[in-house]
Amino acid sequence: MDINKLQRENIKNLRPYSTARDEYKGQASIFLDANENSYGSPLEENYNRYPDPLQLDLKDAISKIKGVPIENTFLGNGSDEAIDLLFRAFCEPGKDNVIILPPTYGMYEVSANINNVEIRKVNLLPSFQLDLEGIAEAIDENTKLIFICSPNNPTGNSIIRTDIETVLANFNGLVVIDEAYINYAKQRTFIKELTEYPNLVVLQTFSKAWGLAALRLGMAFAARPVIDVLNKVKPPYNINQATQDIALKALQNIEQVNEWIKITVAERENLSKELATLPIVKKVYPSDANFILVEVENALSTYNSLVDEGIIIRDRSKVTLCEGCLRITVGTPEENVTLLDALKRP
Ligand code: PMP
Repeated sequence: MDINKLQRENIKNLRPYSTARDEYKGQASIFLDANENSYGSPLEENYNRYPDPLQLDLKDAISKIKGVPIENTFLGNGSDEAIDLLFRAFCEPGKDNVIILPPTYGMYEVSANINNVEIRKVNLLPSFQLDLEGIAEAIDENTKLIFICSPNNPTGNSIIRTDIETVLANFNGLVVIDEAYINYAKQRTFIKELTEYPNLVVLQTFSKAWGLAALRLGMAFAARPVIDVLNKVKPPYNINQATQDIALKALQNIEQVNEWIKITVAERENLSKELATLPIVKKVYPSDANFILVEVENALSTYNSLVDEGIIIRDRSKVTLCEGCLRITVGTPEENVTLLDALKRP
């Protein structure tokens, strides 16, 4: 895979945003180069200064936990920003195409449409696994990205590892593995495979297991040439200082996160079992994530009756291969009991 050929023509000569401050780091103490407020901010923190565009302190802390070098790490304003930047960096509007595997996370299609990039859909098999033949047939010389979500949203299952490896080995563009829910899965992450596959991009996020959805912080891990391209096209200060500060603090509390993962997985298994005993439930799909896909007799009426009880879940009954299904996030033990009680009421 030649990154020079893969990236869009119009960004080939772009340089990553950098400032004189980075160049003269440690040598200067008076900063009159960025038209900031030199007096301070109305807060204790020094929010009057622009943040580090490359977030090196935060990346360093992430690197210690993930074992991925800083130069293989990109941070986005949510993984949604990384998804959008992949389109902007690698897909020529009106010419290139990407492959998505429905039913899957909706943002890949939204981003494709916003960027005027053709979407090719290769549905998952009824087992919710990859249709490898269908994928091979859909690829042409203008296919730049394939999005594989594992564990997949909304189905909850992990994609068979060897199938993902087959796609990685046979596709000349980038294979984006979205691991937003990986912390809840039995299957291990693909970030250890980065050195083996120059065309691998792994997305992870602080929005799920890390409990920081409000911060908007996502990670993309990839070979250096891919990360360098993302750094060229990103807005200079895409991760704000408050996010960098708070995430650094949160990373010191990994024990709490691991504890929640354990509880969530136990609750998921318990909730799955309980749901399966309900008369309105036709099928509970096995989940490797923090949500459960459930087929019910009448999705809309179940959804509405839960709303009446003050419980919001997700109606996925109109989604390909998920007909009649609801997607339920695993709540706290108390929330799950309340949900089950509501579902038991006639
Ligand atoms: N990928 C998947 C599979 C998701 O389900 C979500 C959020 N629902 C995201 C990415 C978005 O994550 P972020 O909050 O980091 O933008």
